[in-house]
Amino acid sequence: MNFENSLSFAKKLDKADPLKSFRQKFHLPKVKGKTAFYFTGNSLGLQPKSAKSYINQELSDWAALGVEGHFHAKHPWLYYHKYSKKALADLVGAKPLEVVAMNQLTVNLHLMMTSFYRPTSSRFKILTEAGAFPSDQYAFESQLKLHNIKPDEGLIELKPRSGEHTLREEDILKAIGHHGDQLALVIFGAVQYYSGQFFNIKAITEAGHRVGASVGFDLAHAIGNVPLSLHKHNVDFAVWCSYKYLNSGPGGIAGAFVHEKHANNPNLVRLAGWWGHHEKDRFQMKKGFIPMPGADGWQLSNFPVITGAVHLTSLQIFEEAGIKTLRKKSMLLTGFLEYLLKSTENYTEYFTIITNSNVEERGCQLSILMKRNGKKAFTSLTKGGVIADWREPAVIRIAPVPLYNSFEDVFRFVEIFKRTFRK
Ligand SMILES: *Cc1c(COP(=O)(O)O)cnc(C)c1O
Repeated sequence: MNFENSLSFAKKLDKADPLKSFRQKFHLPKVKGKTAFYFTGNSLGLQPKSAKSYINQELSDWAALGVEGHFHAKHPWLYYHKYSKKALADLVGAKPLEVVAMNQLTVNLHLMMTSFYRPTSSRFKILTEAGAFPSDQYAFESQLKLHNIKPDEGLIELKPRSGEHTLREEDILKAIGHHGDQLALVIFGAVQYYSGQFFNIKAITEAGHRVGASVGFDLAHAIGNVPLSLHKHNVDFAVWCSYKYLNSGPGGIAGAFVHEKHANNPNLVRLAGWWGHHEKDRFQMKKGFIPMPGADGWQLSNFPVITGAVHLTSLQIFEEAGIKTLRKKSMLLTGFLEYLLKSTENYTEYFTIITNSNVEERGCQLSILMKRNGKKAFTSLTKGGVIADWREPAVIRIAPVPLYNSFEDVFRFVEIFKRTFRK
């Protein structure tokens, strides 16, 4: 598309947007009484207006029924983990059997690594991107220690080439080949939280499997942001949280994917709990763990219905919009942001966009590395009614979210931004 740098053009794009009505489904935060320019849906997605009634439904059922709510609530609590399966499967490109909503992301990462990181004396290394989200770094470090492996011997962190900000696919594939039969696990943040780079899941998974490693992905910044095909791409496992692009509320319930090929593998070691036990005799309370087939077999505890209720209504919005339609708008919306930023006079003196310029290699986020006046610019943005995100040393992350951000939001943001860093 040939973009134009004008408010009227932004409004024209909004008018033609097939998803424009979805903005009304969310509460938009206010700054000084005015609707904020909210670009942090990658950190905490906005509240669906329907969330309250979904929570209230469960509170009323609990009040009216007590424990009987497990069977007689409007959405019987006993089966709550099943209600989100279809929507989650659509979002990650999986079969319903392969996905489950449970726990929190980091917990799920440990559960998955317990099963899929099984080091031997010769094959014990984990390969990942450098600068992974801290929780992932700590999970890798502690998993290595759990197996008595020194983190600096067992962890390979791939850095971009000098002077570059994102990893080249050829370098990733080469590194996987190079470490070959020492690799036990290849794991990447599918969309990197800091740079916004969207890695090639298919190519990385194939390369990992070729050398005999397991391959997993952290989808914290990918689910609900980019379409995924985990089943087709033969990924072994994946984990995610739901409070970022999935708008399921602070600390909302997370999820996991386990490929169908592992669904009935009795040799997989796992940490078990009663909710992962086969549902046929879960309430027999007998000795001896028999897992549910598929991802359900990794559940530990009974389902947190209150946060799960928000998750359900949020996922219904995704079902209505469709991830493909969202992605189409997202490419246009972020493309417009990139175009406007690059139309700024002498911009290269002030900032670089470190996120990939190839749309296939990014989601909705652009990470702007400030070359000078960064902190000052960020403070002025905040005063100007923009809610954005600052990452040390000098990166402003901007995530226009296709469900609730408009082209006008993007235009107005760049107008404010341009005035912040020149002084
Ligand atoms: C947001 C995020 C997390 C957060 O983990 P929680 O267990 O939800 O607190 C972990 N990893 C990545 C890559 C993230 O982006």
